[in-house]
Amino acid sequence: MNPTQLLRVATEFGTPLYAYDLTSIVERTRLLRSLFSNRFDVSYAIKANPNAGLLQALRPEIATFDASSFGEVQRALRAGMPAERISFSGPAKRSYEINGAIDLNVGELVIESLPEAVEASRYAQKIGRRQPCLVRINPLKVPRKFGASMAGSASQFGIDEEDIATVLPQIRGLPGLELIGFHIYSGTNCLDPKAIAENFAIFSEIFQTAQAVTGIEIRRLIFGSGFGVPYLPDETPLDHAALPELINPIVDDLLAKPQFTAAQCNLELGRWLVAPFGWMLTSVISEKRSRGSDIRTCDAGFNNHLAACGMMGSVFRRNWVYKNLSNPDGPAENYTLVGPLCTSIDRLAVDVEIPKPRIGDVIAVENSGAYGLTASPVRFISHPEPREVILLDGVYEDVSETERYPLVARPVS
Ligand SMILES: *Cc1c(COP(=O)(O)O)cnc(C)c1O
Repeated sequence: MNPTQLLRVATEFGTPLYAYDLTSIVERTRLLRSLFSNRFDVSYAIKANPNAGLLQALRPEIATFDASSFGEVQRALRAGMPAERISFSGPAKRSYEINGAIDLNVGELVIESLPEAVEASRYAQKIGRRQPCLVRINPLKVPRKFGASMAGSASQFGIDEEDIATVLPQIRGLPGLELIGFHIYSGTNCLDPKAIAENFAIFSEIFQTAQAVTGIEIRRLIFGSGFGVPYLPDETPLDHAALPELINPIVDDLLAKPQFTAAQCNLELGRWLVAPFGWMLTSVISEKRSRGSDIRTCDAGFNNHLAACGMMGSVFRRNWVYKNLSNPDGPAENYTLVGPLCTSIDRLAVDVEIPKPRIGDVIAVENSGAYGLTASPVRFISHPEPREVILLDGVYEDVSETERYPLVARPVS
């Protein structure tokens, strides 16, 4: 959305607010589908943004939705996704979640441990079913340049690569499960095409080992893609056009192997599809000059956007990209933007260069379409929850899922 559209949304629906440009998200999805010339289907990780309006718009565009909880399985179903196109992953599935997913006939259960597999098999057998499943493998290696990595060190996710030979045959032998392939998601937020390709080469090796120790004919492989987003001002977007040349040969070699010719490969991702087309909009409430800093207090803080405040896995807090929508041509100087919470750690941006924020101005946080609202502790200090608004085919729609608090009148420039 352009600044005019964002300002319009802020004025019409009130801040704090998340705005999602669904037309662009759908376009991006189509781009991704065509990028690798049919080598991959796309799997969307619901946890990146589970908004119901967004899921509904994505559903016709996406082959599968990956759920990380039974609640997300139900969200996918409510968005109209057929059960057979839902996969269910996650390291601590409870009995009701495993049983519920099998009852609903989800396409694939992503098995993260042997005990989970045993439990799922027992339940499926009990109700006379064989549940298709994938086993998630936790690699020993992930290339550098992945922002967040689960591989190499101790991790709750999947079967450790070192244990493949002992554990996979046991899972394969369980009567209630039908092992149809493997799943790897070992790192994310990578902006380097070469590192992504290197990671896929690691996946390919592991998939072959896993096939060899189980002897199954592979029907499905999930590549947790890790495509990244330039959150920081000095980062450049992932050059996705460079990916096919690097990745296609890896996939083609793999699919040429016996037992892999029927494999359907899925690219699984979240943030790359949705983050760049979401904005968090917040208004300036008050100003203070304090000991050399120009402070602006805003109506959203880490309660509304944990990730932008550097509290979601960042080692160092660094400023994301902020725009002053109301005063784009104002004199740019350094300001510290803080949230409304009664704690000194509630800082959005420290000494960020931005056109002068005046009281009432609307500030936009870029790249906020993923891990925004639902990844934030919204109930901390009982402020109203941000609205969520989508723009699709020229129409703005409030798709918030919580009650609307009374809006307080505020100046609009
Ligand atoms: C979170 C998650 C993803 C998506 O990660 P992004 O960084 O948003 O692309 C994919 N697969 C699984 C299993 C996940 O848990």
